[in-house]
Amino acid sequence: MPIDKTPEKNAILFVWFNHYAGILVKTPSKTIVVDPVDVRARSFPYVDAILITHEHYDHLDPRLITEIQRDTNCTIIADPASTQRLQHAIPPEKLQQISPAEEIKIGEVSIKAAKCNHPAAAPVTYIITSEDGVKIFHTADSLPFPELAAIGEKEKFDVVFCTVGIAPGSSPETGFEIARLTKPQVAVPYHTNSTDYQQQFAAILKEELPRTACLIPELNKIYQVSKRK
Ligand SMILES: [Zn+2]
Repeated sequence: MPIDKTPEKNAILFVWFNHYAGILVKTPSKTIVVDPVDVRARSFPYVDAILITHEHYDHLDPRLITEIQRDTNCTIIADPASTQRLQHAIPPEKLQQISPAEEIKIGEVSIKAAKCNHPAAAPVTYIITSEDGVKIFHTADSLPFPELAAIGEKEKFDVVFCTVGIAPGSSPETGFEIARLTKPQVAVPYHTNSTDYQQQFAAILKEELPRTACLIPELNKIYQVSKRK
């Protein structure tokens, strides 16, 4: 599932590659992979950075990350608990710990961490801003929380990934609540193996938030999102 195409200007491409929060984002200049598990390292021959949200098995696979890092020499950005789990396997200059409100640049692409409402040690979500200003909010498998409204207002997201299943307490309704609070141009229901849950999310969104488009992703397909006008 590597993306061979390059996105148009003011756009990004993404692929959802597992039933959890596994997302590959391609900007015009960089390839970023979030929470790779349940895939082969050779699926990612070109990677500039891997982002890890928290230490749970469906988000962090130290052996896989070590293999991808060795093959691509990419940078790893991770929450504190995952950083600790990776520190003996990844060269120190390639491993960067991040906490909410901190920002790390990968070339001209900005990676900012934000709060995550999930029962892990120190989980984060990621605000990824492409070099031409496309705004992606990868919310890991967070449940909604009030500060999302202010984050959404400030960032004006083009695309927000919303957990609709598997994680404790999550449902199509909690996924919708993330979309309602952040008000993106495009909302993507993920972190589920149920297309029913994705459809339920889409139905609530259409009813309650008609200005936000729903993009129901299929695994391993490439989607393009352009910056809002
Ligand atoms: Zn998860």
